[in-house]
Amino acid sequence: MPDAVGINDENINSTLNLNSNHRIVVIIGSGPAGLTSAIYTGRANLKPLLIEGEPSSTSDQPGGQLMLTSDIENFPGFKDGIDGPELMAQMRSQAERFGTEILTEKATKVDLDAPVKGIWTTNPQDGPPNFTADVVIISTGAQSLMLGIPGEDRLIGHGLSTCATCDGFFFRGKDIAVVGGGDSALEEALFLTRFANSVRLIHRRDQWRASPIMQDRARSNEKIIPVWNTQVTEIVGETSVKSLKLVDTVTGQESIQEIDGVFIAIGHSPNTDLFKGQLKMDDAGYLITGPGTTTNIEGVLACGDVQDQIYRQAITAAGSGCMAALDAQRWLEAHE
Ligand code: NAP
Repeated sequence: MPDAVGINDENINSTLNLNSNHRIVVIIGSGPAGLTSAIYTGRANLKPLLIEGEPSSTSDQPGGQLMLTSDIENFPGFKDGIDGPELMAQMRSQAERFGTEILTEKATKVDLDAPVKGIWTTNPQDGPPNFTADVVIISTGAQSLMLGIPGEDRLIGHGLSTCATCDGFFFRGKDIAVVGGGDSALEEALFLTRFANSVRLIHRRDQWRASPIMQDRARSNEKIIPVWNTQVTEIVGETSVKSLKLVDTVTGQESIQEIDGVFIAIGHSPNTDLFKGQLKMDDAGYLITGPGTTTNIEGVLACGDVQDQIYRQAITAAGSGCMAALDAQRWLEAHE
């Protein structure tokens, strides 16, 4: 299938003008949405710059949430499933193959409301932008929500985690807990049964939110112990997790559960602080897009989880990344 703009080996390999700070397309964010928009704009010879972010913690690193995901069984084309980090490495290489310039820095400020948009990474925010762009594609994704309870800040990385794939190995033979009742929580719990002796699945209601197939798998796994109608109120331990303070959400009765580790999997929050005051957002902070991937500012497009709290799948993020790239091409053609 031919693309809207054709390519050949010569322009794929054309030398990027690294001396100039102006780019036709700058993509902020490196999950499946950003990398797919890079593949498409790269193949359209738009020489995108992708600002991929930089690692700041185990749960915040370039590549987005799939870097924290184990087997992905529902991304078409991988009959036997694929590891999240492996899928992201493949997408990143594919984007580079088509001329994407990848910068391992964080965007710290943007000025979107002008024909030429400004993006800051390392420059002082009151100085000139590091890059300017005709089109900006935003794909900054979403991140794990936390409970906001005592012990969380102190014990993250010391028995408290938001990433079973990253940290599950450390809990071999241990008794641990997962908090949440959605697909993420059940997926984490199931993955952790590979290592742990037991996994208490603590949920604030008496019914999981997760899809039926995940519920069936969790119920039939003898290592998973459902703990219903229960909220965690404190994670206890000085230098490592020792126990959880719990409250029964129906009776109000308090209890203590000794535990070797706890994983929090209660959902996500969009990474949109950078765009406050410039781009329209819904009450939860997700960017509002439409038609297609357009935001309220011309030449600024958004794709992936940063603008989607309904589907939030790798494949839908990738699909909207493709849409953003095509919307970028059309917008550029209309504004030549
Ligand atoms: P989610 O569906 O929003 O579920 C969040 C869970 O955490 C809910 O059960 C919620 O309880 C609970 N929760 C939220 N805040 C809480 C708090 N403060 N204290 C205690 N519990 C709290 O989020 P998700 O599981 O991350 O899934 C997000 C989306 O990604 C979903 O559409 C899901 O289907 C999808 N997903 C798919 C897969 C897969 O297909 N393999 C894997 C992961 C995620 P309530 O139920 O009481 O609200």
